[in-house]
Amino acid sequence: MAATDLTKAVDLSTHAEGTGPNRFRRPVYVDFMPPCNSACPAGENIQGWLSHAQAGNYFEAFQTLVEDNPFPAIMGRVCVKPCETGCNRNHIDTTINIHAVERYIGDESINQQWQIRYNAKPTGKRVLVIGAGPGGLSAAYHLARLGHTVEIFEAGSHPGGLLWTGVPEYRLPKNILDAEIDRIVKMGVKISLNHKVDNVLQEKAIGNFDAVFLSIGAQLIHKEDFEHDDSVYITNAFSFFNEMKNNASPFTRKKVVVYGGGKLALYLARIIKRFGSEVAVYFSGDKKMMPAYDYETEDALAEGVDVQLLQKIKSIAKNKITLEKQKVEKGKAVDTGEFETIDADVLIVANKQESDSGFLRAVSGIKINDDGTVVIDANRMTGGEGIFAGGDMLPGENRSSTIAIGQAKKAAKYIDAFLSKVTFQKPDKHPTAGYRKLHMWYQTEAPQKEQDKLAPAVAVKSFEEIIGGLSEPEAKFEAHRCLSCGNCFECDGCFGACPEDAIIKLGKGNRYKFNFDACTGCAVCYEQCPCHAIEMIPEPVNLSTDVK
Ligand code: SF4
Ligand code: SF4
Ligand code: SF4
Repeated sequence: MAATDLTKAVDLSTHAEGTGPNRFRRPVYVDFMPPCNSACPAGENIQGWLSHAQAGNYFEAFQTLVEDNPFPAIMGRVCVKPCETGCNRNHIDTTINIHAVERYIGDESINQQWQIRYNAKPTGKRVLVIGAGPGGLSAAYHLARLGHTVEIFEAGSHPGGLLWTGVPEYRLPKNILDAEIDRIVKMGVKISLNHKVDNVLQEKAIGNFDAVFLSIGAQLIHKEDFEHDDSVYITNAFSFFNEMKNNASPFTRKKVVVYGGGKLALYLARIIKRFGSEVAVYFSGDKKMMPAYDYETEDALAEGVDVQLLQKIKSIAKNKITLEKQKVEKGKAVDTGEFETIDADVLIVANKQESDSGFLRAVSGIKINDDGTVVIDANRMTGGEGIFAGGDMLPGENRSSTIAIGQAKKAAKYIDAFLSKVTFQKPDKHPTAGYRKLHMWYQTEAPQKEQDKLAPAVAVKSFEEIIGGLSEPEAKFEAHRCLSCGNCFECDGCFGACPEDAIIKLGKGNRYKFNFDACTGCAVCYEQCPCHAIEMIPEPVNLSTDVK
């Protein structure tokens, strides 16, 4: 019998899916936003500068850091570090001590006298910044990086705003503040001190400025309404800071009451404690209503400051302050009709801060709220053409130097666009790489390196800095603890794990690429990627939109 071939020939002209196993998905390298970066009000590329610190290259770490924030040594001391609250490492052991590494880099930059590396062509445009606080200085710095000529007019006799007047030396030594401001001056930013602006439009015209950035802060204290005689010396937080520089004796070895519940009130109380006075902080709300962070209250309590909540001042007579007990109803503190009196020599009011923005009423279009804060639009411009604003003079519950610095960075981009007669387009934000996105297949035991801290009983005896810095090995160790959330750090994990040798190394700093002729879409690379820098996307792939 003749042999018959029963196998039907494959019709290669119609079998579009090919003859091998099908790949239904393929890996792609991606970049996510690390949660630390997302939480930092100044938008620092923390992961980026930590990676330079890991390599011991603190100069590059500094240059990466200052692309977003010109004050690493200051931030490492005063920032309330929301970045660390967001840090994914917290789910494993303890957060990266980000602010301490930042401080190390900042201190190193001061010791080594590193200057800012930037390369901007002069634009010929002139910008006036009003106020040399953290927001004004940050705006001036970022505008200078963009090639604009910047002058700052500051009403006070020293730049720094609240960082100079309101933050005690035990938290921020003045030489650190001055060194980081000096670096901005070296970029060509001119600061005119004792220059109070009363007429913005006139100053703009006289100085031939093309735009203005307002950053006058909130250095007025809301006036409290209570009856009083002259038996108790009454002042407010900002007057106190000025008075104590010339003569601290009215506050030395006295009974002092500080009225307020914010960071400012607690700073004041701790300064006064160092003058040998008895000091108590009274606040009309409860703990939840206190604007100060818990650790600030705890530090004050540890130094012997008495903190009393739900007490409102009613009147002052014959060296006695009468307070009415408050209770919380529907989230608000209300009177109870119960009173108590306390002895006092001095009362320092340090409650709500307001902005001294009355001079802006002369500029048509600028809208000012009752508390002196100023309204801005989506381009960060006030109702006055070419007049932008930022920092504590904007409405909002949360105020901090880091927020002011971040707002000023954003404003500089809008001012730059305004000067170039274009519209600033915000770049797309990558999604955040939260802890659940990571594939932490390995365990590490590397608890945080903590900073040394003076014992409260010692700290309260002087204005010496309370919290110490990290040593170089400690800073490097902390940097190495970073998980590189959401971004490839070239660990070679995918390269080693791929069963098909489908991953090609592109050399240090250039990451990898996939060889899709060999890749089967098994997803082993994706599953082992500890930082979630690989995603699997379905086939077929539209190369122009799916793969970037
Ligand atoms: S500025 Fe503050 S939030 Fe930003 S990295 Fe530094 S400590 Fe963290
Ligand atoms: S582990 Fe590193 S990248 Fe991840 S959140 Fe913390 S500091 Fe940022
Ligand atoms: S491990 Fe290799 S074969 Fe598997 S999806 Fe990744 S690149 Fe492709």
